Parts: sequence; C-alpha cells; structure tokens
Amino acid sequence: MRVERVEVQIGPGFIENCYILSDAADATRVTVVDPGAQVEKIRAAVGDRTVERIVLTHRHYDHVGALAQLVQATGAEVVAHTLDAQAISEPAPSRLSPARHATPTGVPVTKTVEDGDIIRVGNTQLSVLYTPGHTIGSICLYDDNDHILIAGDTLFRGAVGRTDLPTGNAAQQRESLRKLAQLPGDTKVHPGHDQDTSIGRELGYLASALEGSGNSGDPDNSEGSANLGNSASPDTSESSSGSDHLGHSDRPHDSEGLSNSNRPSNS
Ligand SMILES: [Zn+2]
Repeated sequence: MRVERVEVQIGPGFIENCYILSDAADATRVTVVDPGAQVEKIRAAVGDRTVERIVLTHRHYDHVGALAQLVQATGAEVVAHTLDAQAISEPAPSRLSPARHATPTGVPVTKTVEDGDIIRVGNTQLSVLYTPGHTIGSICLYDDNDHILIAGDTLFRGAVGRTDLPTGNAAQQRESLRKLAQLPGDTKVHPGHDQDTSIGRELGYLASALEGSGNSGDPDNSEGSANLGNSASPDTSESSSGSDHLGHSDRPHDSEGLSNSNRPSNS
C-alpha cells in the first residue's frame, strides 16, 4: 500500500491529515481518506489519477469538510461505517457549524462498512477495523500485508482520541485501543492529525492507558513509556493546535477514564 499524506488546514494552527492510497507509484486509481478541507489542494495531489473511492474514518467536520466538493468533482463512491453514515449524509446546514462537531454534508454514503469488511485498493487491500470510542462509527483501515494502519482519530503519536464529544465513549475507546495493541509492533500508524507513529512506539502508552498500571517493565517499551512521563503535563503535548482540536484531548493522558481501569474487561 502506498500512502501519501495531504495536510489540509481546518483553521488557524489546526491541520488534518487527508490520505491518498494506491497500490503503486504509477497507479491510475486512488482512494482518498478523510478530505477535511482544501479540496483544491487534495485534487492537486491526486493529479491525473481517478478517485474511485472516498473513505471517511468518522463523522467529524474536520474529516468530511471537503467531501461534497470532492464527490462533485470526482463522482467517487463514499464509504463510511454504518453507525456514522447517517450523520454524514444528513442535509447540509446553511452554514458550517463546528459547534456540532459532526458536519452533515448532504452527501449520501453510498457504501457502508462494518468490522472485517475488505476495501480493495488496486491490488492491495485494507481491512476495516471497527474502533468506536471517538465516535460511535469510527473505523481504522489496516493493511495486513504491509502492516499499515490508517487510524483516523482513534490513535495518535503519544495520544488517543478524545471521547467527550457526542457519541464518544471511553469504555468503547478502551476496547478499540486494546484491539489496535494486538497489531504487529512494526505497524506504521497514519493518524488523522499530527505525525506518523507505529504500534510498537505507542505500546507502552497503550498498555498504561488500558491497564492503569504504568510501565510494563518491558525494555522494548521504553520509548513508548517515556511518553508516560509527560502524563501530568498537558503542555508537552505534541499537538500543534489549540483548544478546539477535535482529534485528541488537550490532555491526552488524563482523565478520560483511560487510566482508571483497574479491572480491564476481557469481554
Ligand atoms: Zn474526530
């Protein structure tokens, strides 16, 4: 899987990562993930290639903001999880309303997906991982062959997706992170905001978030565990943006319940 990142500006200091996926450098057909804004910048990155599909990791306005324009320009199929599809497809309001967090676009989701579904990108394929918590219909996309994860707003470099917005759920988020922690350590993670990371790099952080027990003691986790040292200091977040960031919490290591689970459920 070939992954190209297009950083689009949602607002001052607020960047979202749109991705262009293909199976080769000379591919003529691509899949676009999360066209959040700046449709012309996305189209320029796509170039002469055909956008055959747009996948939305979840319903938030900073991930769907350029959807209508991109569909109008390309006629691409629109793919989202069943439980976020309606919120995305509702008639667009007369004025953008970031306060609602979800932005109804008026664009029909033409294909709904669920956990385990396969999305083919040329000769490569992605598995849909249902990862609710940030929103009820959040998904990640996983390339099992190349160990690549398109993570949406579920997992970031040194942070996890916030769960305090409508349909967010901290318990579901824990289950979703537990699922991601099972992926191979060398899995490259392409999040919806900020820089790339890997499952291995985040394992120490994930373990702490899931178990509430701090450092696992595994030396292989030392890099990830180093993140834990910052847990009481929101100012050290790598987030480049301010308080209206929809991706992760301003205090990503704190009190969303992620560190309070003394009895992690295996259910
Ligand atoms: Zn979001």
